Amino acid sequence: FSSYPPPREKCAGPSCPNPYKYRDSKTKLPLCSLECYKAVQGGAGTMAC
Ligand SMILES: [Zn+2]
Repeated sequence: FSSYPPPREKCAGPSCPNPYKYRDSKTKLPLCSLECYKAVQGGAGTMAC
């Protein structure tokens, strides 16, 4: 094992300093929270169905 933790990918949220906690299955983007998920989706909350 290495003596230091491997470089963790950071959240893809705009100006988000947190390390990512999960990866979005659609966009494959690293995300830390639902807020950042919505942010990277570009406010795609216009589903009228
Ligand atoms: Zn984030």
